[in-house]
Amino acid sequence: MDWADELAAQVRDDGPQVVNDSKTPSGTVHVGSLRGPVILDAISRALRANGVETTLLYGVDDLDPMDAQALLTPDAIDREMGRPLAHVPDPAGDCHASYARHFAGIFIDTFAGLGIQPDRYYWMSDIYPTGQMDPFIRTALERASVVRDIYRRVANVQHPDAWHPLSVICPTCGKVGTTIVTGWDGELVTYECRPELVTWARGCGSSGAISPFGGAAKLPWNLEWAAQWSLFGVTIEPCGKDLSTAGGSRDRSDAIAREVFEREPPRNVPYEFLNIGGKKMSTSKGRGAAAHTMAQVVPPEQLRFLFLRPRPNHAIDFDPDGTDQIPRLFDGFDTFAAATAGREVKGELAPGFEATFRYSLLDPGADVAAEAALYRPPFNHLAMLVQIPGVDVAARAAAEKGSALTPREAAILDERAAAARAWLEAYAPERAVVRVQDVLPAAAVDLDGVQRAYLAALADAIGDGAPTTAGDAWQDAIFAIASEAGLPAGRAFDAIYRVFLGRSNGPRAGWLLASLDPVFVVGRLREGAGAAEPATTGGGA
Ligand SMILES: [Zn+2]
Repeated sequence: MDWADELAAQVRDDGPQVVNDSKTPSGTVHVGSLRGPVILDAISRALRANGVETTLLYGVDDLDPMDAQALLTPDAIDREMGRPLAHVPDPAGDCHASYARHFAGIFIDTFAGLGIQPDRYYWMSDIYPTGQMDPFIRTALERASVVRDIYRRVANVQHPDAWHPLSVICPTCGKVGTTIVTGWDGELVTYECRPELVTWARGCGSSGAISPFGGAAKLPWNLEWAAQWSLFGVTIEPCGKDLSTAGGSRDRSDAIAREVFEREPPRNVPYEFLNIGGKKMSTSKGRGAAAHTMAQVVPPEQLRFLFLRPRPNHAIDFDPDGTDQIPRLFDGFDTFAAATAGREVKGELAPGFEATFRYSLLDPGADVAAEAALYRPPFNHLAMLVQIPGVDVAARAAAEKGSALTPREAAILDERAAAARAWLEAYAPERAVVRVQDVLPAAAVDLDGVQRAYLAALADAIGDGAPTTAGDAWQDAIFAIASEAGLPAGRAFDAIYRVFLGRSNGPRAGWLLASLDPVFVVGRLREGAGAAEPATTGGGA
């Protein structure tokens, strides 16, 4: 997170900062779309932490035309494609005023849960009718030839000489994506609503002259973006890699800001995508990568951490399905917390780990040292505990911590236990699923003599008062007794998994045994030790 503090240091003497982003609410939002808002929020926090007066804005570009028919019913396609998203009815038929309000609402609702608190939201469908965009519309029309030249020069897009940078909302059919402005006399624009201007929507063929002000027309996206910068005084605006390419959308809007609206564009913080493991995500187990769905499995602080740990210009490959990536995300978070609390951790941590931890916290005003010092149960351990019938998870966590959990720690435990259950249901690999067998599994007959002797030795050690609740102590005992017995660790784990789970793999064996009733554990180990010797001395070597 050095980058956010570096940015704050660069602008510290430049006066108050306005951080902005905006989004077209064209449908269900992928969880990767949250990277931008989280980066935006972290920048704002870093600026404020460095004493810079900061305003965080978030806009919804809801006068953009409807251009994706996937979420429309067949009878609505002809009518709605090309209309402003703010004028398309809510497809869910619920209480939202429009398609835009429905989908933007779902997206924005996730912000509060992620600790993202813009000072102000704005909707372009509200802004245009107030007349605040009128000066920019007038300037764009007066400098139409400059705009055409920018498109030609920066993006190699050739508009006809009659083209003006404005889209009228057709008074006849209500579409904005199908209209072209061909003239401007200082008061009225002439426009045509063309049936075949675009492939994805059909205009009604009407034409006329109209005043472009007060919400009757909107600027094309690149001009609208640059106009937002001037209107709101934006000084910093991160944007996705897809928009930041040479000759791309950002370059066009930067040039329009300078040459048409005569204002220096905001600083860009280009950020890379979050790549979710291919198609698997949308098909497997019925879970998708929608922002509000992922939020059920990855709690807010871990989701913030996922986005903030790499620098913005580094892509994130996230493939939770059938992998340990979600448990490792929790482990990474816990490592950063431990290091921030001054505890020793394994491996090297990147400089700035304290800032990464701080900006991953939900509450911008949190006591970072106190948060870092909290007890957090390891995710993998919890994912196992929640599968064992009759286990008092809170009591186990308190035993592991060595004292009663604070209310905040109990809340973290609840959140993690819920996440672990959701992970097991949606994404967990088979090896993480624990089904402790009621009777000695058939797989136990494949144990060889050394493995059986090992199980007997382990049972004896536990019978002698070995650890019964601490997973780490169990893990140590498993290794130590295997070493004494001359049994490779892999074969020792194989023996334990076979007698408890009936298979040759499983979660961390120490945690597994620690989570079970000790009397049951000793009994099962002895049963396994006495399992019938197989006909051959097999069992794998
Ligand atoms: Zn029309």
